[in-house]
Amino acid sequence: MSVRAGREFLAIPGPTNVPDEVLRAMHRPAVDIYTGPLVALTDSLLRDIARVFNTQGRTYIYIANGHGAWEAALTNVLSKGDRILVLESGRFAIGWGEAARRMGVEVEVLKGDMRRAVRPAEVEARLKADKGGTIKAVLVAQIDTASGVVNDIEAIGQAMRAAGHDALLMVDTVASLGCMPFDMDAWRVDVAMSGSQKGLMTPPGLSFVAANNRAREVHKKAGLRTPYWDWTDREGDVHYQKYAGTPPEHLLFGLRQALDLLFEEGLENAFRRHSLLAEAVRRAIGIWAEGQAMGFNIIEPNERCNTVTTVLMNGGHDPEALRTYCSQKCGVVLGQGIGELSGKGIRIAHMGHVNAPMVLGTLGVVEVGLSALGIPHGKGGTQAAIEWLGEQVKA
Ligand SMILES: *Cc1c(COP(=O)(O)O)cnc(C)c1O
Repeated sequence: MSVRAGREFLAIPGPTNVPDEVLRAMHRPAVDIYTGPLVALTDSLLRDIARVFNTQGRTYIYIANGHGAWEAALTNVLSKGDRILVLESGRFAIGWGEAARRMGVEVEVLKGDMRRAVRPAEVEARLKADKGGTIKAVLVAQIDTASGVVNDIEAIGQAMRAAGHDALLMVDTVASLGCMPFDMDAWRVDVAMSGSQKGLMTPPGLSFVAANNRAREVHKKAGLRTPYWDWTDREGDVHYQKYAGTPPEHLLFGLRQALDLLFEEGLENAFRRHSLLAEAVRRAIGIWAEGQAMGFNIIEPNERCNTVTTVLMNGGHDPEALRTYCSQKCGVVLGQGIGELSGKGIRIAHMGHVNAPMVLGTLGVVEVGLSALGIPHGKGGTQAAIEWLGEQVKA
C-alpha cells in the first residue's frame, strides 16, 4: 500500500522544481541564431544575470552545469603553477579546488569542516602570513549544499582586505543565487559563478560567470585560457561568439521566463520567502531532534542556510530507510547525504520554486515516515512549522 499517486515532489537540492511557466516557455520551435529576437534575448539575459549577481561587471552564459562554470572561472584568471586558497566548509569549494589542481594549479585548503562556516579571522591570518602575495585567488561557496552551511562572503572579503592581500575573491553561488542576497560589487567579489537549476528554477544545462574589472585585467595574462571558456572571445559583437557556437535557445527561453517570475515576485520577497520556509523546516527539525535520533548538521543556528537543511541521523537509525519510505510510500524525494555525510543523513531542500504547501507537505511526509519507521522524535514538528508561518505571514 502506498499514498504516492499524484504529483511527485522533488525536495532535493538541485535540480529543483521547474515552474510550469518555464516549461511552457521552452515548448516552441527553434529560431534563427544570427539575427532578431534571439540576439535581443541574449542581451536581456546578460543584463539580468548581472542584476541578480548585483554587479556592474561582465556576465557570461555557458552551456554547462556548475562544474563547467567552475572551469570557466578558473581558466579565465589563472595560470599553471599559480597558488590558490580554498576555504573548506563542506564539499563544493573543495570540488572546485580539485578541478583547479587537475589543471596544474597549486591548491591549498584552509582547513574547515562539514559542520561549520568559514571563519573570516582564519582567512585573514592565513593571508597575512602570505608575505610575498603568492596566493592568486581565494575560492569559497556562499552556501555549501552538502553541509547546509551559509558563509559570510562580505566578512570574508573584509578579512582579505584587512590582511592587505590582493588575491581575487571567487565565489560559488550555485546554491544561493536568487535565494538570498548576493552583493557582488559591494562585497568586492571579483568572480562569481552559478548554475540554472537551483534557485534560478531552470533545467540544468546553463551556468553563469560574472567578472569585475579587476578579474578581467588578470584575465589578460591568464595562461589556462581555452577557446570554449574564454571571456575575450565571448565579449565579441557577433552573437554566435557569445556561446562559442550555437546558443542553447530553449534553455534561454526557459531562463527568461524564470527570471521574469523572480523579478515579478521581487528579489527581496524571494529572499524573505526562502528565509521563512527555511525557518519552518528548522522549527520542525528542532522538535523532532528532541527524540535524540536526529539533529542539525550545522551546529551554530546562524550558520544554517536558507536553501537546504542537512539533518544527521544517529543511534543506528538509517537515513536511507527514511528516504525510501518518503519516496516510495508518499511521493516525496528527499536529498541524500553526500561526501563525508553519505549514509549519515538526509537533506531537505527548500530552494527555488517552493511555497508553503510544498514545504509543509514535505515536513508532514517526513513526520509520517518517522512515525511509520518507529524512529524516535519529538511530537509536533510539522505543527511548529505551521505555527511559525502563521505568526510570520500576516493576514
Ligand atoms: C550543485 C552545486 C554545484 C555543482 O553544480 P553542477 O551543476 O552539479 O555541476 C556546485 N556548487 C554548489 C554550491 C552546488 O550546490
